[in-house]
Amino acid sequence: MVKKFQFELLATDGAARHGLISTPRGDIRTPAFMPVGTAATVKAMMPESVRDTGADILLGNTYHLMLRPGAERIDRLGGLHRFMNWARPILTDSGGFQVMSLAGLRKLTEAGVTFKSHIDGSKHELTPERSMEIQRLLGSNIVMCFDECPALPASDEAVAESMRLSMRWAARSKEAFGDRPGHALFGIMQGGVTPELREESAAALRDIGFDGYAIGGLAVGEGQEAMFGVLDYACGFLPEDRPRYLMGVGKPDDIVGAVKRGVDMMDCVLPSRSGRTGQVFTRRGVVNIKNARHSEDPRPLDEQCRCPACRNYSRAYLHHVFRAQEMISGMLLTWHNLQYYQDLMAGMRDAIAEKQFAAWEAAFHQTRVEGDIEPI
Ligand SMILES: [Zn+2]
Repeated sequence: MVKKFQFELLATDGAARHGLISTPRGDIRTPAFMPVGTAATVKAMMPESVRDTGADILLGNTYHLMLRPGAERIDRLGGLHRFMNWARPILTDSGGFQVMSLAGLRKLTEAGVTFKSHIDGSKHELTPERSMEIQRLLGSNIVMCFDECPALPASDEAVAESMRLSMRWAARSKEAFGDRPGHALFGIMQGGVTPELREESAAALRDIGFDGYAIGGLAVGEGQEAMFGVLDYACGFLPEDRPRYLMGVGKPDDIVGAVKRGVDMMDCVLPSRSGRTGQVFTRRGVVNIKNARHSEDPRPLDEQCRCPACRNYSRAYLHHVFRAQEMISGMLLTWHNLQYYQDLMAGMRDAIAEKQFAAWEAAFHQTRVEGDIEPI
């Protein structure tokens, strides 16, 4: 018998939640941060190293994988898990958001979206049905509904119209997904920053019924205050017994604020992308490794971090390899950033379990305010 997809709420502290998602490919401890493996790789990382940081699940991008190397090819090669050597759970997005942000010359109709590839200009179509098919071919464990995300700012009428289209697509996604034991389908709430539209969207999704619910249409330039404002009420529109996923978030303080408001899952390219540009996330805030103050500093980035960049290398070395544009720079800094994010999530899970989230959060902000260690 196939193991089911299940979510168990283990502890709450205020609105913050700690839980466990069980899947046939392993458990996901929540709150969970999902590193982004856009093109079947978390850039600059071996999958074993991603796991070593404490990641339980990765995110894969339907848009990128359908264009290159193609979903049918990945299926013939045994699915995405085998292809990229990651045996644990994978969540795939629907492709909708990246068609909007990356593809050229889009045409949106009730049926779906036709667009030109940003790689070679070839023409493609994504519909709810095709998105479900691609995510099935990839072997995704958590499949996302195909939706449309309007660019903000937009008028209330435009946001409402787009949200209602996404809800019709959510029903078609559910129909096309069918009955797949052990696999989950998440609906995506839209509605911009308008409470009535968020409520209408959540009600439509609950009527259809999903294994989990994402909060979409945020982290698109509305700012942290507006995002937290939506989360303050939007989480309450969603069922308590299903995981809640905030897509594309975010900076460490965004993540802490989202967990505080009842979010269970997040993903973001920030820790891996920043690792390649010399931006380092630490307990004491952001450190810019290319800064000259690190050039003769024999100390680790963070003496409390257990990642190889901090255990085995000095700030001076990390500064040098970044300046010299050596590949190990992106490798070490990405590893550190992903370790920092996973340790952040682990800290919040423990704090929620012990009902100490408020104290944990105060310490998190206080350490960041104190800033980086004094220069040598
Ligand atoms: Zn580290």
